[in-house]
Amino acid sequence: MTQTLVLPADAKAIDTCTAELAVAFQRQIDAATVKIYRETMSDVPLWAIQEAALTLRRKGGAFFPTAPEWHRVAEQLIQDRTREALASRPATDVLHECDGCRDTGWCDVERDGRQVCIPCSCRPTNHAYQRMTKSSRKSQNEEL
Ligand SMILES: [Zn+2]
Repeated sequence: MTQTLVLPADAKAIDTCTAELAVAFQRQIDAATVKIYRETMSDVPLWAIQEAALTLRRKGGAFFPTAPEWHRVAEQLIQDRTREALASRPATDVLHECDGCRDTGWCDVERDGRQVCIPCSCRPTNHAYQRMTKSSRKSQNEEL
């Protein structure tokens, strides 16, 4: 029994990528090869499959890219994109449990005309603060 992991439209798109790779590398491929490549790539999002195929075509080489090679390039693209997405996420997207101290446990307040840092009143109830201090305490202990 063969389980189809991809939508029919995606399967067709993967097959197209495989055919294009074959053209780019000047190879004759048979239906069995197309099927194996489709199955190998079926757990990867289509955009990554297509970008990886293009990357491999541009990279070139003496040999037609193997299915695992194509899969590896696609996974690398997904990792890169995830990292970029996380890095480019604006800081304002981060939600703080406490807006007063932004979960640092310290508040800037004005006392007698000066800015001073005081412990925030949220400390006993702020989970983000407690988690942070617990983990920093833990890593300090590990360093000792
Ligand atoms: Zn606070």
